Amino acid sequence: MCSVPDCGRAHKALGYCPAHYRRFLDTGDPQADRPVREVAGDGYLHHGYWVIPVPKALRWFVGGATRIGEHRLVMARHLGRALRRDEVVHHRNGNRTDYRIENLEQWLTAHPKGQRVEDVVAFSIEMLARFAPEIGARATRRTAAS
Ligand SMILES: [Zn+2]
Repeated sequence: MCSVPDCGRAHKALGYCPAHYRRFLDTGDPQADRPVREVAGDGYLHHGYWVIPVPKALRWFVGGATRIGEHRLVMARHLGRALRRDEVVHHRNGNRTDYRIENLEQWLTAHPKGQRVEDVVAFSIEMLARFAPEIGARATRRTAAS
């Protein structure tokens, strides 16, 4: 049992449940007066990330996964589309259990294989088409016309 008064959650480590243990690791204080966010179903910590079961209606956001890090689901819902494999969700404040949208940032790990100019240009057009389609369309037209 967690040692935080009135917590009542199962023990994970150092006398704390997963939520209070994570806070203790992150800040040195389990922050007993701050409520622990409850999610539907069973969530759990995995390498510091809060993993939750994905309701059937939301699974298209996460490639059909039945469980996912909550930060990825929050970002996918924010974007209104599924995240691609090369998109990672960064926690601005470094707290991996803080999945408030204002703490999350969309990062991209994609990069061109080479540094050949044509490859870099092709990669740039692909990224524009993906993230700024209004600019990407112009770039594609210009390339096709030349
Ligand atoms: Zn606790």
